[in-house]
Amino acid sequence: MSKNDKKENKIIKELKEKLLYERKNICQVMTDEQIKDADRFCEGYKTFLDNAKTEREACDEAVKIARTAGFCEYAPENKYKAGDKVYRVNRGKAIILAVFGSEPIQRGVNIIASHIDSPRLDLKQNPLFEDNELAYFKTHYYGGVKKYQWTAIPLSLHGVVVKGNGDVIKVTIGENDDEPVFSVTDLLPHLAEQQYKRPANELIRGEELNILIGSRPYKEGDDFDGARLSVIKILHDKYGITEHDFISAELEAVPASKARDIGFDRSIVGGYGQDDRVCAFTSLMGIIETTSPKKTAVCVLADKEEIGSYGNTGLGSDYLEDFITDLADSEGVAVREVLRASKCLSADVCAALDPTFPDVSEKNNAAFLNHGAVITKYTGSKGKSGTNDASAEYVGEIRKLFDANDILWQTGELGKVDAGGGGTVAMLISKLNVDTVDIGVPVLSMHAPMELTAKADVYMAYKGFKAFYC
Ligand code: MN
Ligand code: MN
Repeated sequence: MSKNDKKENKIIKELKEKLLYERKNICQVMTDEQIKDADRFCEGYKTFLDNAKTEREACDEAVKIARTAGFCEYAPENKYKAGDKVYRVNRGKAIILAVFGSEPIQRGVNIIASHIDSPRLDLKQNPLFEDNELAYFKTHYYGGVKKYQWTAIPLSLHGVVVKGNGDVIKVTIGENDDEPVFSVTDLLPHLAEQQYKRPANELIRGEELNILIGSRPYKEGDDFDGARLSVIKILHDKYGITEHDFISAELEAVPASKARDIGFDRSIVGGYGQDDRVCAFTSLMGIIETTSPKKTAVCVLADKEEIGSYGNTGLGSDYLEDFITDLADSEGVAVREVLRASKCLSADVCAALDPTFPDVSEKNNAAFLNHGAVITKYTGSKGKSGTNDASAEYVGEIRKLFDANDILWQTGELGKVDAGGGGTVAMLISKLNVDTVDIGVPVLSMHAPMELTAKADVYMAYKGFKAFYC
């Protein structure tokens, strides 16, 4: 190589650094101290995952954390000043938190919206049955699940039963080591010849997701009855419920395992329900630590996203708009003025490129584990159908904000064009005339009983949400 060549290479190197966009593993960029902070932050995150396995529990946890941080229940008739912290619970399944800003409300509010429901097996309304002496619960799966993943794993049961007299009984069973768990059975490989011929999405069918809950017959003196009676007797002794009470119950079977570190380097969190409690927890921590924002900070933890945001606890309902209307009314401002000036981060997970299944991702536009928080301009499927598609201006604004605050981020699209797709609550919030873009954390094994996220990415999402509120 001549002297001339070397000089040219240096110019090329500088030019490449200046002009080309090279993706980087953020663990190369973060300081040792930052990595330690990320690991520490995720200890709290894992505890949240263990304590909040359903939307109701996540809502309760959020209230607990918020109250400890000085948040009070919002009362529209009260006068609030900058720095005041409030929350409003929607039917025990969704929550809005807010910290009042110093700027007038007509300049808009800063919203981060995530969801706290996750795919699972819901009990049917008449779930109890007995077959060949074994007692089972019938289920109807909730959200997008690969049904075969839910067999042969320990499940716990969470939810409420509303008795005929109106009493509400809270149920959580299978989380403590001394409690029983439940399981959906699967066929042994020796006899699965016919099962293997089914298409993969029918390997286990919806009506085969039956949860085994008991096997001993009921015994009274010398008389015996079935396991169905013995199971309901146990439930009656413990909770005072009868079989008829299931009709007004919401019982959810979820993986009984706890969130764990994954890998020799403990760099990854493995646990159930990270879609989207990873964004719920990070945005919750973001608003908890926001003390004097310019614009009013609003954090929404919504229910029902996994089934299309329908129902009055999903963001298809008006409760977010109602809350902002209350804020606007108390200042004598039209809510449409507030909404028009507001900004939103739709905080939800993104699929990370899985090296075992690279074919569904397009490398240049996929999200990677350990590459930071993911900005996703659009979601949807089949020609951007069903997406918000954020404006270049708004994406630019967020990019600038993140860069100014040393938030390490990447861009990511959910899979190859026409490989499938998905949506978030972004389109429901942009419908309110609010600038909205999707931001989240890359996930491996999304919607599986154990989902994986990188601690560095979780930490960057949290830092990003905090910067957005400040
Ligand atoms: Mn989600
Ligand atoms: Mn999801």
